[in-house]
Amino acid sequence: MQPSPPRDHVTVGILALQGAFAEHQVMLQKLSLKRRVVVVLVRQQEDLDKCDCLIIPGGESTTIALLARLAGLLEPMREFLKTKPVWGTCAGAILLARWVEGAKKGGQELLGGISITIERNGFGSQVESFEAPLEVEGLRESNCAFHGIFIRAPVVIGLSPSPTDPPIQILSRISASLLPASQTVVPIDEDDTDPRDPRTIVALRQGLHLLTTFHPELTKDHRFHEYFVQECVLPTLSISSPPPE
Ligand code: GLN
Repeated sequence: MQPSPPRDHVTVGILALQGAFAEHQVMLQKLSLKRRVVVVLVRQQEDLDKCDCLIIPGGESTTIALLARLAGLLEPMREFLKTKPVWGTCAGAILLARWVEGAKKGGQELLGGISITIERNGFGSQVESFEAPLEVEGLRESNCAFHGIFIRAPVVIGLSPSPTDPPIQILSRISASLLPASQTVVPIDEDDTDPRDPRTIVALRQGLHLLTTFHPELTKDHRFHEYFVQECVLPTLSISSPPPE
């Protein structure tokens, strides 16, 4: 059998049930990469089946989970993330986590692709939303800060990879002084706080997946979208591509 020709495009799905999916779409359409990016708005399993990877946008995690259940997408997404990269932004980060604190009464469903505990609205309410310059490891021109927009953002409160889980790679932290009073980090000495505290983590990777507690799609900076496609997705495709002649 002839090997299939190398793919000239990558298909990026965006879960489009609620939240900031259109903003992700605009960002992806502006990327200029080695491979063409085809965007699929995912609303049912047939859409997901076409995708090489998936972005779960910010919005309201409880609503997204409920709509995903009604659309019959929860189980297919849990299967999808076993083999394909998923990036969760803000509410999407909550969905991607394995455990959640501050869930809606009665609990909320998660996909559980990343072995962290995340606290919903951990940075406070809408009025406590804030913006902060971030240093992010691995981004193009990483010495140039990425503008982090945090809107009722979740806080990573624990990393709990099991011995068989892939390691967690921290890409960005914010200064502990930006955490709200309810998240006060215990100082390790008089004028410093523990830089390893998980609550300062705002971007991380584990295995195939990427998680940001802020909203890169609400900026004009394409570097995070570029990073996801280039660093998280393309390497998974080249494995199945035939070697170059
Ligand atoms: N607090 C929201 C939630 O629980 C997330 C907010 C956001 O995505 N900007 O889903």
